[in-house]
Amino acid sequence: MPAKLIDGKAVAAQLRASLAPRVARLAARGVRPALAAVLVGDDPASQLYVRNKVRACADTGVRSEVHAFPADAGATALADRIERLNADERVHGIIVQLPLPPALDAARLLASISPAKDVDGFHAQNLGALLQGRPRFVPGTPAGVLRLIEHAGVPIAGRRAVVIGRSTIVGKPTALLLLQRDATVTLCHSKTPDLAPLAREADILVVAAGRAKLVGRAMVKPGACVIDVGINRAADGKVVGDVDFDAVREVAGWLTPVPGGVGPMTVAMLIANTVEAAERTLD
Ligand code: NDP
Repeated sequence: MPAKLIDGKAVAAQLRASLAPRVARLAARGVRPALAAVLVGDDPASQLYVRNKVRACADTGVRSEVHAFPADAGATALADRIERLNADERVHGIIVQLPLPPALDAARLLASISPAKDVDGFHAQNLGALLQGRPRFVPGTPAGVLRLIEHAGVPIAGRRAVVIGRSTIVGKPTALLLLQRDATVTLCHSKTPDLAPLAREADILVVAAGRAKLVGRAMVKPGACVIDVGINRAADGKVVGDVDFDAVREVAGWLTPVPGGVGPMTVAMLIANTVEAAERTLD
């Protein structure tokens, strides 16, 4: 029997709808949650991502502002803007769309965002809180991955989970979240020898490597839950994940499509974090 597909678009729409009463409660107290997005340069993919976030905000009653800078913007101008946004009481969440032009120090800029407004969850304080098992703002993609696994009803505690990819924004936090939910987690990367037998042990396999067709049928345990985070452009221009969808569908128990899997969840979790940041100002 082919794998059940996990519909990220539908789960994200449910999540956004569940935010409506919280946004209404905030409105009753005179607060409109607001997200500020800092966009540097004219990379079409970054512009598209920011547009999607702005649209998702509008759908949810969250106010958004885009702070666009030219590709040659100086570090000081950006730091000044972040400082202003940190101080602005009408702004609850601040994100810097990545990647930044290479001349800019992304880590330094991200570190200048107030941890209380760091709704992407990339600040060391928020990543540290996640490491300590008391997360505040969790990065949207890993949080979305967990939501999709939960939505599918796949048990996590006591199961073997394998995460392929160890980036700070996807792989590592995903591994931490699975560990927190009592999975036994293996975190793999480009220097991992013999990836296939490790992957085949996974009850839950999360692939976030950015390599089209990295995971084929032989790397998947029959019945496993496979979450494909990858976004790659195929030779024919189509967007594909890291998993060979048609082949893996025959063997997995659950599978996320690309597009329409993890991507919509990433944006929905960001909006949820922004609403939470606004709620925290009233605590
Ligand atoms: P990075 O390039 O930062 O990290 C990729 C990771 O994959 C690295 O840890 C790398 O290992 C590992 N890797 C690369 N090739 C292999 C391989 N052949 N075997 C095993 N491991 C490998 O990417 P990100 O984490 O930022 O993103 C990963 C993918 O997810 C990309 O396709 C990206 O576009 C997508 N993405 C999707 C999102 C969504 O919303 N759906 C959001 C964010 C990202 P090493 O550390 O050794 O180099």
